[in-house]
Amino acid sequence: MIKPLPQPLLLSVVEGKVILQGETFDIDHIVTDTRKITASHNSLFIALAGPHYNAVHYLAEAYEKGIRMFLIQEEPTDTSSLKEATLILVKSTLKALQQIAAYQRRHFKGRVISLTGSNGKTIVKEWLSQILGEKYFHYKSPKSFNSQVGVPLSIMGIKEGHKLAILEAGISKPEEMENLETIIKPNLVIFTNLGSAHAEGFESKSQKLKEKAKLAKNADFIIYRKEHAEVAHFLEGNFADANLICWSDSVGVDYCLTVKQQDEQSKIVLLQPNLQMFTFTVLFSDQASLENIRHVIAAALSLGMTPPEIQKGLQNLRPLDMRMSIKQGINDCTLIDDTYSNDLEGLKVSLEFMQLQRPKRRRVLILSDFLQTNQADTYAAAADLIQQHRVDKVYAIGERITHLRDYEDLNCIFFKDTGDFLENLSLEDFRQDLILITGARKFQLERIVHQLEQKVHGTSLEINLNALAHNFHYYKRQLHPHTKVMVMVKAFAYGGGSAEIANMLEQVKADYLAVAYTDEGIYLRNHGITLPIMVLNPSPESFPLLFTHQLEPVVYSFSMLQQLGAFMEDKESAINIHLDCDTGMHRLGFMENEVEQLNGFLMQHPNLSVASIYTHLVGADDDHFKTFSQNQLDTFSRMAEQICSTLPDRPLLHALNSAGIINFPQSQFDMVRLGIGLYGVEVTGKHEPQLLAISTLRTTVSQIKTLPEGSTVGYSRKGQMPNGGKIATLAIGYADGYDRRFSNGKGHVLINGQKAPVIGNVCMDMTMVDITGLEVKEGDQAVIYGEGISLKELASSIGTIPYELLTNISSRVRRVYYSE
Ligand SMILES: *Cc1c(COP(=O)(O)O)cnc(C)c1O
Repeated sequence: MIKPLPQPLLLSVVEGKVILQGETFDIDHIVTDTRKITASHNSLFIALAGPHYNAVHYLAEAYEKGIRMFLIQEEPTDTSSLKEATLILVKSTLKALQQIAAYQRRHFKGRVISLTGSNGKTIVKEWLSQILGEKYFHYKSPKSFNSQVGVPLSIMGIKEGHKLAILEAGISKPEEMENLETIIKPNLVIFTNLGSAHAEGFESKSQKLKEKAKLAKNADFIIYRKEHAEVAHFLEGNFADANLICWSDSVGVDYCLTVKQQDEQSKIVLLQPNLQMFTFTVLFSDQASLENIRHVIAAALSLGMTPPEIQKGLQNLRPLDMRMSIKQGINDCTLIDDTYSNDLEGLKVSLEFMQLQRPKRRRVLILSDFLQTNQADTYAAAADLIQQHRVDKVYAIGERITHLRDYEDLNCIFFKDTGDFLENLSLEDFRQDLILITGARKFQLERIVHQLEQKVHGTSLEINLNALAHNFHYYKRQLHPHTKVMVMVKAFAYGGGSAEIANMLEQVKADYLAVAYTDEGIYLRNHGITLPIMVLNPSPESFPLLFTHQLEPVVYSFSMLQQLGAFMEDKESAINIHLDCDTGMHRLGFMENEVEQLNGFLMQHPNLSVASIYTHLVGADDDHFKTFSQNQLDTFSRMAEQICSTLPDRPLLHALNSAGIINFPQSQFDMVRLGIGLYGVEVTGKHEPQLLAISTLRTTVSQIKTLPEGSTVGYSRKGQMPNGGKIATLAIGYADGYDRRFSNGKGHVLINGQKAPVIGNVCMDMTMVDITGLEVKEGDQAVIYGEGISLKELASSIGTIPYELLTNISSRVRRVYYSE
């Protein structure tokens, strides 16, 4: 923070009222998420609240972690666990957070650069930061912190000494920008482009344009591209000439930047109004990157950098893989790959991310130099962060990072450069560790990731953890505030890999998990998952294991009830059980006429503690079965009430699966059971666009062949090429879960965005596709499903359901998790 806030000042900034006075101190740090609390010293916890989330429930947890000052908008019912805390009541905690940010912004003496537009904001921000780093000590907002909460939080990271700050502004509906503008007060705005879709919560493209341009209301300069005609027209009509900085492919503007494209690199020729010329060389040749780079050049020139200074920075620009990903490492390690981050804020975000992962033997950090000036300070702050996040071992790469030598507790080893590290690397040094690899592009830390990554063949299933959280919250919004959510993570979380997904579900505060078999539950417990877990179909032999791992069995028959009762006979404690009511599925469960007998049994076995009672709908997705489903629900209500009437405590009742949540919102009972919807498939088809695909199955092109007329491809000569053509062989087959029914043109894949149909029969480990007339090279990636290929259509093309495709993906396919 730029200006620490003593309590009286804080009160006036947020217009707050003290309702409990305990400790007081100058605030210099803001926390909004209890999971990310590391240094509690001088921290203020702001309890944000949304329609389905209220951090006021986490005050005690924050207190426990050392927080002593709180901003709240609703008085907690019980303050007994907050003895020495200071509680400050405000009308809206979000507003208060924004007020504190605006106050900090007013006291920042450097210049603020902000970005708006539909695409490219994050990448322009990252690149501009890399270029400015050659000359200025500056700040940039982490990742895509660009929302009503993200912008204020990122402003808190600006420090006194920064000369510049680059902040991204993102809006999703009208009026949000005015608010962001008052917080950011940018001096320079870059308007990247407008995009084509008018979605994003706006009525029309022109409304969107008008809203986005509000960011520049009080700015000294706005940078834009002449070729974006709508943007240019609007800005030129609504802003004074003196405030506009225009660039274009052609002359007559402030910066004429023309491109000469070559194969692997391009030249950008700058012609300034005074006719001075300069030629930049960049390692990109695609249109989007070349546009982004020219925004960066225009901004850097406007901020006083010379063309040679800019060129020096351009040499190190690489395509950004913006995503932080989690990968399977060698020797049972887990890798967090964040190899593009090059500043303190980035380090902080990735250390926080590390903190949220499942615990392993040690936390290891592999870190390079920061590309910033003001070194000693930066490294002191880094040392602080590393200590706070309890990193066990640091591998430090570079020359400037030797500043960390001053901090003996860090347990650091130093390497001159990445090559030096790799030469001295012994893979045996890493075992069951959680390893974060982060640093500047220039150091090519991806070479280290490559060494430490477990290598499997070329097929991977990528899981987007943000999309998963998005889908979870989407369903959560369909529910009453008090309805709990049990998430079905059976069958390896529908193929996605259960441990990482379960970990994410703990973070988004799911209430319960369910698996099919005991060993699936044990696997989760062994991977540090602490949520309650229901087991749908436990075998009696597994009761001892269930009991020791605190797994909760479903009981569906009298014989099972008897065996469980016998097993529990000599136990002092109780076990939570769940009762399955068969109301029409006729799979497992008690029938209505068995309830009386069931009640009698339960009364004699008080240590079988009924935690929930449920039923399962047979056709919740199909309006055709509406009456049948309603009858099931009615039968269930009767059965449940009859069982409850003899129980000491009322258990949770639940009936709805994903489709049921959409079609029977009035029957939520106490909990719902979310399955396929979480994984991005909306089976009723009613709300499909609101969900995000969470997984992408990819493989690589192993070989390309050009075949003469009359050739055939694959087993039994099924693939016919009467006119000849070109084929690509992909590293995926039915043993990986690519269904054999996709053979002979039934299925297709996407390679570089182009549709390539399957030719011939799918083999066990390989598949051939027809790429005649397409642009494909060996080593290219092919998307089997994911963006552009919908799982639902794919499934219906071979007469099956998305559930089957998802769960069929073989365990030999590597799972990669990422988070944006
Ligand atoms: C799998 C399962 C669900 C989830 O169903 P979806 O259609 O995937 O939402 C819910 N309840 C039970 C008992 C299940 O077995």
